[in-house]
Amino acid sequence: MNDCLFCKIIAGDIPSTKVYEDEKVYAFRDINPQAPTHVLVIPKKHVASVAAVDELDDADLAACLRACRLVAQSEGLTEKGFRVVSNCGDDACQSVKHLHFHVLGGRQMGEQMA
Ligand code: AMP
Repeated sequence: MNDCLFCKIIAGDIPSTKVYEDEKVYAFRDINPQAPTHVLVIPKKHVASVAAVDELDDADLAACLRACRLVAQSEGLTEKGFRVVSNCGDDACQSVKHLHFHVLGGRQMGEQMA
């Protein structure tokens, strides 16, 4: 999508720090990290959020979750744990309207989810 920030990152038009990439998924470091490890995992196909996930092939969706696991492993998070978050819509403060999964770890997370 032309005016989508994350589509521009996938295309290489906006720089990012790549952590993982395959044919379906791109993962890069969040510019404003909320934890020692904070990586964004996104499908290369543009869909706005979890609310629009029916527009995504099951294989693309599965690839996103698998990439979250691969990123957690490569970042050394699998032993102590990590959190995967996807904000969806205004009440959840979604700021970029391209489906993304935050992979957060490297410190003890709070018990409160929100
Ligand atoms: P959300 O608020 O759930 O939509 O998450 C969007 C995330 O994108 C935020 O955590 C931002 O810090 C992050 N972000 C915005 N612009 C960039 C960028 N150019 N490179 C990396 N992360 C970004």
